[in-house]
Amino acid sequence: MRFSLLALIFLAACGRTGAPDLSAYPNEEGLSRLCNNPAILGEPVSDISEGACGIDNPVAVRYVAGVRLSTPARLNCRTANTLADWVANDAQNAVKKLRSRITEMTVFASYACRTRNNQRGARLSEHSQGNAIDIGAFTLANGVELSVEDDWGKAGKEGVATRALHTSACGPFGTVLGPNSDRFHYNHFHFDTAEYRSGTYCR
Ligand SMILES: [Zn+2]
Repeated sequence: MRFSLLALIFLAACGRTGAPDLSAYPNEEGLSRLCNNPAILGEPVSDISEGACGIDNPVAVRYVAGVRLSTPARLNCRTANTLADWVANDAQNAVKKLRSRITEMTVFASYACRTRNNQRGARLSEHSQGNAIDIGAFTLANGVELSVEDDWGKAGKEGVATRALHTSACGPFGTVLGPNSDRFHYNHFHFDTAEYRSGTYCR
């Protein structure tokens, strides 16, 4: 009796205060901090090598800066770090006027051994090196979902926030593509960390 009461108090206390990282994700046991960055949680993955595609020291990212990814994203650490920094420093600011914060991002793609836009004969995509992530939607703590497909062209706060997310990624990421870039990006943002001589490219 005495023991269970103590256990109860202990559990209640943990639920309230908890450690900053894993306690916030009660259903996600066994995750580790990745890329020497406490803001990145997930699982390490063994090296990926598929012909010209692959990643050295890849990670399967489940959370960045407290934001859950809908499916684990396989990335290299440079890109995972950029994503975590962008979420913490830029993306949350971009949705501030909605008086909430991003809690989840819907991942459409991460590592994939394929050409750009899956077009035959095109150059390999940055996805093929773990340099890129595609995000289709952002879920906020208040239940609002900002969808690239539905909200990009809209007036009002949600449209403004969706476009602000795109703009805020330009700089942190070397390439940012959205619905204005081409027909392939009507429903998601493409972010990558490839370095181009010409500087950042955002459309
Ligand atoms: Zn992409």
